[in-house]
Amino acid sequence: MRIRSFSNEQGILYLVATPIGNMQDITLRAIEILKTVDKIYAEDTRNSINLLKHYNITTHLESYHEFNQETKTSDVIDEIKSGKNIALISDAGLPVISDPGYKIVKEARKEGLRVSTIPGPSAGISALIASGIAPMPYTFYGFLDSKQSKRIQELNDIKYINHTIIFYEAPHRLHDTLADMYSVLGNRDICIARELTKTFEEYIETNLGDAINLEPLKGEIVLILEGYKENTDTNINPMERIDELIKFGYKPNEAIKEAAKQLNMDRKELYKNYSNYKNSTRGNLNE
Ligand code: SAM
Repeated sequence: MRIRSFSNEQGILYLVATPIGNMQDITLRAIEILKTVDKIYAEDTRNSINLLKHYNITTHLESYHEFNQETKTSDVIDEIKSGKNIALISDAGLPVISDPGYKIVKEARKEGLRVSTIPGPSAGISALIASGIAPMPYTFYGFLDSKQSKRIQELNDIKYINHTIIFYEAPHRLHDTLADMYSVLGNRDICIARELTKTFEEYIETNLGDAINLEPLKGEIVLILEGYKENTDTNINPMERIDELIKFGYKPNEAIKEAAKQLNMDRKELYKNYSNYKNSTRGNLNE
């Protein structure tokens, strides 16, 4: 199906980017659209009201969030079909990106309705370009699961992606997430981008091994993580890496297999070396 966004038929759904911190990061076009549409749907009306007040936008505002999207989607679709122009915004950045909106877009596309994007800031891509980590190719991951077992599974699934990966994370889960990344992915460069566009904006360029020792960080956080690379760093001590993995909960045999993969080494050879190392230090592998 081919749909021209600016044909003059029925209604339209605008996906409008809003600031990720600094109130001034909004386009002239976004303000114009928000002033002239028939209705704005917002993730949290209490948050959006401040932005709308700031720009003297008096358009009717209604909520559209994770918990009412099942029922609200069909209302929005009916409104567009009846000729209304609707804008969707989230609390920050682009709607749909780790925020509600995909359901409406999918449904609107299925119905042959017009959907148009009003671009602007998004935390992930803004962090990526300033991180100093290879910007392309990249994978946008968003939030990992909050449950550790699922998070570890997710990290295992993406372990060999050789793209830079963009994650969102809440400050209270940051340490656990970094520790899981380190245990599953091995050491990699990471840039922790915090409070973008706000007074305390900060970029911490580090690696996972050091990041797990950082003091607790506050605020909104994006993680830009280096992608998988075949290991060429001869400074990593394989015995120490195996011990670390065991400390993170791997069984000895699994730790050896994992370290062999991470360090691009022969597993049998590593097993032999690790056995010798253990025998010479404090016992054997089955301890
Ligand atoms: N839709 C938004 C976007 O386009 O970036 C993302 C919304 S998601 C619910 C919120 C997460 O985005 C935060 O937990 C944080 O990881 C990231 N984020 C949003 N604003 C940020 C900022 N100013 N600085 C750093 N990260 C931010």
